[in-house]
Amino acid sequence: MRVFNFSAGPAVLPLPVLEQARDELLEWQGGMSVMEVSHRSKGFIAVAEQAESDLRELLAIPATYKVLFMQGGATAQFSAVPLNLAAAGAPADYLDTGHWSQRTMTEARRFVSVRVAAEESASNYTTVPEQVALKLSPDAAYVHYTPNETIGGVEFPYIPETGKVPLVADMSSSILSRPLDVSRFGLIYAGAQKNIGPSGITVVIVREDLTGRARPGTPMVFDYRAMAESGSMLNTPPTFGWYFAGLVLRWLKHEGGLAAMERRNRAKAEALYAAIDASSFYSNPVARNCRSWMNVPFRLAKPELEKTFLAEAEAAGLANLAGHRAVGGMRASIYNAMPAEGVAALVDFMREFERRYG
Ligand code: PMP
Repeated sequence: MRVFNFSAGPAVLPLPVLEQARDELLEWQGGMSVMEVSHRSKGFIAVAEQAESDLRELLAIPATYKVLFMQGGATAQFSAVPLNLAAAGAPADYLDTGHWSQRTMTEARRFVSVRVAAEESASNYTTVPEQVALKLSPDAAYVHYTPNETIGGVEFPYIPETGKVPLVADMSSSILSRPLDVSRFGLIYAGAQKNIGPSGITVVIVREDLTGRARPGTPMVFDYRAMAESGSMLNTPPTFGWYFAGLVLRWLKHEGGLAAMERRNRAKAEALYAAIDASSFYSNPVARNCRSWMNVPFRLAKPELEKTFLAEAEAAGLANLAGHRAVGGMRASIYNAMPAEGVAALVDFMREFERRYG
């Protein structure tokens, strides 16, 4: 029996996609699974190209952008971005909105001069900076930000304006959750294991003029131009992950694309925040204008009940609601593949739990 899985990632995947992958596992094409064929075979190339074209269609990616399927997770991009976009020690602007932007900056400091163009410590990272508060400089190689902080549950309600300086976004936990104007970005990257597919693959969408600038010494598998020229097949790609991502992208199109995801995700998030706000037993610390649609952290007024809450939730088929180990509390991740019924079941459980323990 499948449960409602609120894991932050690897996360719930669409059931019809899992079923198709199961059905095709032993016999995909010619009596073999997709994991057992060459990445250079006609069959696999067709899978790879279809996945790219579906992603392009879903996000309306302009033709001037390259789409790369890379490895090393979003974490590899923390260093690939400076290696490709900046000379050694050049200045780059970073917005600090919490855990993941800080991890990104720590890695970037090995390669560039990181300038913190905004930081939200005064609110304990429960806010995002306003556009007017960004201390951006025209000489920055790029501006990096994390549109959705997976742990803090803080999401930018706007896309920063950076003028001629390329904007780089770690969209690991928000990509494909609603329509996006890709043309506002120089580069977007996202680990797959939330809204795209299984872990092991990282999608990079990069404006073509930002490729071909990798500094000397950049490993070739992290060189955007080399990856683009080889169709992301410079070496053996994670074929199963790519295939599976392709199934998820087709599912997204079938479900009505990102406009449909936006409607669903808005409704799910509103239902959950409304339940939290309606009660003094539960609380969410994030400012209302920047609450994440994907990751909803919450706490109990009686923290000593957290363990009981998690155990009873698990027993009720609501899995993985523990907050990140760095912050504790609870967190419900409600990505595209989390059905509205999952959120409704969680809200019902929360009401009942409060009735019994509140
Ligand atoms: N950035 C964000 C926003 C994330 O949520 C995560 C993973 N939870 C990462 C980066 C790191 O991703 P990976 O494990 O794929 O390197």
